[in-house]
Amino acid sequence: MEIRETIQRLKKEQDAVILAHYYVRDEVQEMADYIGDSFYLSKLAVDLPQKTLVVCGVSFMGESAKILNPGKRVLLPDPKADCAMAHMITPEKVAALRQAHPKAAVVCYINSTAELKTCSDVCVTSANALKIVRALPNEEIIFIPDENLGRYIASQLPEKTFIFNDGHCPIHARITAADIDAAKAAHPGAPVLAHPECVPAVLEKADYVGSTSGILNYATAHSETAYIIVTECGIGYKLRQQNPGKEFFFITPTPTCEDMKFITLEKIAHALETGEGEVTLEDAQRSRANAPLEQMLALAK
Ligand code: SF4
Repeated sequence: MEIRETIQRLKKEQDAVILAHYYVRDEVQEMADYIGDSFYLSKLAVDLPQKTLVVCGVSFMGESAKILNPGKRVLLPDPKADCAMAHMITPEKVAALRQAHPKAAVVCYINSTAELKTCSDVCVTSANALKIVRALPNEEIIFIPDENLGRYIASQLPEKTFIFNDGHCPIHARITAADIDAAKAAHPGAPVLAHPECVPAVLEKADYVGSTSGILNYATAHSETAYIIVTECGIGYKLRQQNPGKEFFFITPTPTCEDMKFITLEKIAHALETGEGEVTLEDAQRSRANAPLEQMLALAK
């Protein structure tokens, strides 16, 4: 039987829904019931009737889905798919920073392990970080684990003092200002849309800085017919689907998150067939990791 039919059959049998991140392979996004960033997908899952969530993305996304949906079974088609940045600070280092800055709030980018969330006061996404940090009463902010997102938010909030961690997304951080210059020379007039995980020298050259969904919305809402996209290449699937008359140019070399591409249709079918790759979290850890997510939701209102 064709793999797509097998997945459809297994989805029905297992009462499952497939949630895919924007950065996974095109054929996986095509097979998904919902596509989005990790927080959107986890939150959306709370209101879905299905009992099993197949999370097509890296492991911290499976954890986030489990934290917000403790009563559901969460399957990761490839639990080895991991985000390097999610581990780029230790709980010990967070504790040391707290000791050095006792009045600071620890703000944790959602691209982080459940363990790191348990040491944090509030989580943020790249879409809501500015709003959340602005709303915090603390003047001092310890921003983990991504230095580049932290520096971008800090540049918008001069009234606050930031303490950064030297974490970064290896895919976005390797993009240089020279890469942007080359793309602009190749596609004159095309607006540059960049993700805030890029280094400051890249963001300075962007016409728009925003999350993956922000980039998608910007390109869809504006009338230009060509754009230079400065984020992971998987977003191209949705950009092209939503904007058939427009052209999207990625910088060279094309930013590709290998771990996101680990997810294949075969692995989705295998997870549904066997139940392998189930995400489990201790109740105490889940509840401590949930607290900063709840705080984020409260401040985002
Ligand atoms: S693109 Fe970067 S931040 Fe996103 S999952 Fe890959 S390594 Fe992590």
